[in-house]
Amino acid sequence: MGILVTGGAGYIGSHMVLHLADAGERVIVLDNLTTGFDWLVDHRVKLVEGDIADADLVGRLIAEHEIEAVIHFAGSIVVPESVENPLKYYRNNTSKTRDLIEACVAGGVRHFIFSSTAAVYGMVGLEPVGEEGALNPVSPYGRSKLMSEWMLADVAAAHKMTYGVLRYFNVAGADPQMRAGQSTAGATHLIKVAVQTALGHRDKMSVFGDDYATPDGTCVRDYIHVSDLVSAHGLLLDHLRKGGESLTVNCGYGRGFSVDEVISTVKAVTGIDFIVEHGPRRAGDPASIVASADRIRVLGWQPRHDDLAGIVDMAYRWEKYLDTRNDRPAIF
Ligand code: UDP
Repeated sequence: MGILVTGGAGYIGSHMVLHLADAGERVIVLDNLTTGFDWLVDHRVKLVEGDIADADLVGRLIAEHEIEAVIHFAGSIVVPESVENPLKYYRNNTSKTRDLIEACVAGGVRHFIFSSTAAVYGMVGLEPVGEEGALNPVSPYGRSKLMSEWMLADVAAAHKMTYGVLRYFNVAGADPQMRAGQSTAGATHLIKVAVQTALGHRDKMSVFGDDYATPDGTCVRDYIHVSDLVSAHGLLLDHLRKGGESLTVNCGYGRGFSVDEVISTVKAVTGIDFIVEHGPRRAGDPASIVASADRIRVLGWQPRHDDLAGIVDMAYRWEKYLDTRNDRPAIF
């Protein structure tokens, strides 16, 4: 039996592929390579270039490789872009996910694991938010993902499929062995932007808003190391394979850092000072999102990289590695 990983040439997907290949699983990656890279896909794994909404292709892959589970990472992930171009997000994250799920049902796929986001909660307070928290996404990105969560629940009630939804908090860092890392061109995520600024790829960076109702006025997020995140997917897959019920879990460490704290950590870890401007708020940003993450621990999850400095160090080392490549992805 095989596992189909969509978006396996992207940041988190490529780490999932390493985790599965290291465990000896049979893995097929489906990726359209718009933001992913073929060189990020582990050589032990077959990469198919194509679209998740191509029902014929997905149906063929399911049959040919006896796909038992689909782990679905492919999608668009930038909150401010979703505010400017909502239809792109409803297409990539909602309607294409619908088509993929349909092909999975038709092909008899037993388990479906979906990358969701803490953005489904919306404007929460400073307290950690649990899976039962109110779902009031404030960005098209969060809404596009929440609709897919609902679709999965409806499909699992009607068909012989169980699912796992992982609501990611802020994913960062790189494979400790430096086999993969965040490589997408035109990065917007805080830690990546900060290490690029430390390396001089950007002249300066901005803090988007310092008048939030948080301890230092800048937004608070729960940064989780990408390897801990993919191990959570592995545990959820094991749970479903053993006949466990469909489950939705938060993936974070349960503690938050402000934008200013993250930038100070980047300066401390790299030993490089750089220019930071305090600018206006960015559309769609909640003040604080921190996970209450007890449910995933019930599956035996034991994070190994709950250390902001360590996460930043790995992100920094990966960025330096990218500098050594002739085909370095564009900074902007
Ligand atoms: N942020 C910032 N400057 C940047 C990039 C991000 O101040 O150059 C802030 C952003 O406004 C948010 C936090 O950092 O409060 C995390 O943003 P990111 O884009 O990394 O992830 P998100 O929480 O939006 O998924």
